[in-house]
Amino acid sequence: MTINVQFSALTERWDQYEAPLRKAFEDLGLDVDLRIEFPPEKVDYLVYAPNSSVSDFRPYVNCKAVLNLWAGVDQVVGNPTLDKPLTRMVDCGLSQGMIEWVTGHVLRYHLGMDKYLNGQDGNWRLGAPPMSRDRNVVIFGFGALGRACGEALNALDFKVSGWSNSPKEHDTISTFHGQDGFAEALGIAEIAVLLLPSTPDTASMFNAAAFAKMPKDAIIINPGRGTLINDADLIASLDAGHLGHATLDVFRVEPLPADDPFWSHPKITVTPHIASETRASTAAEVIAENVRRGEAGEPLLHVVDMQKGY
Ligand code: NAP
Repeated sequence: MTINVQFSALTERWDQYEAPLRKAFEDLGLDVDLRIEFPPEKVDYLVYAPNSSVSDFRPYVNCKAVLNLWAGVDQVVGNPTLDKPLTRMVDCGLSQGMIEWVTGHVLRYHLGMDKYLNGQDGNWRLGAPPMSRDRNVVIFGFGALGRACGEALNALDFKVSGWSNSPKEHDTISTFHGQDGFAEALGIAEIAVLLLPSTPDTASMFNAAAFAKMPKDAIIINPGRGTLINDADLIASLDAGHLGHATLDVFRVEPLPADDPFWSHPKITVTPHIASETRASTAAEVIAENVRRGEAGEPLLHVVDMQKGY
């Protein structure tokens, strides 16, 4: 029987996703009718981005699952009309993009690149940067993306640690979890990479008290979510000379307003939520596999825990 899949995302995404999705369904031998709109009761699966026009899921009475195109689900998880299973995106293209962005920014700070980029002043400054094996990088949020980034940095010989909610094991990366682990992890984080989801528990975790536990001149790199950081506390710690610098890709308000103090702060680099994005060719395969699983009665991949919120 034909499976009706509705693609609910921005129009320009349809142009990117239509062909890869059709191919991925065909590759799995699925008979799918893919459209941007059906009568809601006809929809079997919703391929979904939270910035689409769909915000009331109640008319989709026969929908078997909502398949989110984004890794972050904070804009949909609290939707009271959503009573279907929700999956989030774990995609090798998304992970690779995040690995490249995080590694680039870690290396920038580790090598002290700014000193040379901004210092072409005729002065011959001695002193090579330390080896990566002597640099502690802590990944706060040791999930799909955090683990991928941690392993890439580990392969470059950085001393990597990962912090998560539940205990984790890893052959070469030290792991911390829970509140006690948070203090320990902060204490060694010369470079902190924030890859936590936005939930009530993670809100403003990186505040004055947390920054005070970090080593002097520590670096914050945040591609996770803007809500993780108390913005005023971050600026205060940078201004007081405790934290060294921050690169921020995500913000409480996006686009970041033109008059936001982050833009002009000398110790903050703003990037416009470009750390990584879902790639249509690889993401389409994940979506198709979940439709196949749904139809075969197998467990879906990457199901969101609605209680935990990620
Ligand atoms: P994930 O696989 O769900 O991993 C989340 C990690 O955070 C898990 O290790 C989880 O611990 C940990 N965590 C959650 N709440 C915690 C808490 N209260 N205390 C301690 N640890 C906690 O998510 P992901 O796919 O890696 O994505 C992470 C985030 O990256 C997304 O939520 C999104 O916000 C962001 N993102 C940003 C971009 C961008 O372009 N800037 C792109 C994609 C994603 P457990 O493993 O123990 O549950």
